[in-house]
Amino acid sequence: MKKCDYCAKEISYHDQYCCEDCERKTVEFHQRSERYSKMFLIVNTICVFGIPVGLFLASFSTAVGIPIAAASCMVLGLMLILLPFPTEGMIKKHKLQKAIKISRIFGGVVIGLGFAIIGLVFVLKR
Ligand SMILES: [Zn+2]
Repeated sequence: MKKCDYCAKEISYHDQYCCEDCERKTVEFHQRSERYSKMFLIVNTICVFGIPVGLFLASFSTAVGIPIAAASCMVLGLMLILLPFPTEGMIKKHKLQKAIKISRIFGGVVIGLGFAIIGLVFVLKR
């Protein structure tokens, strides 16, 4: 049993995709990921680094640390929604369409985390 590389629909052994649309979307995804991969990597690294650094600084000064941590979460989350580039392992496991969806959901969760960090400050200040 073989599955479409994009939508995971069952297909015959001779094919790679179930339809032209899936093939086109896969090609477009790879073009986009090639074009933006460097930017993605840079933003990703800064934000993944910024969250713990911000939280660490927050233990000394919430006014400095919290904005860094919250902004890192939101930028990272926003980027994952706009540029959902799942890892190779995720694509292999879930096929492209679902892997992209998971990346977007994860992006939303990370943005939520950013809001939670800000919310926490207001709770703690009381
Ligand atoms: Zn398909």
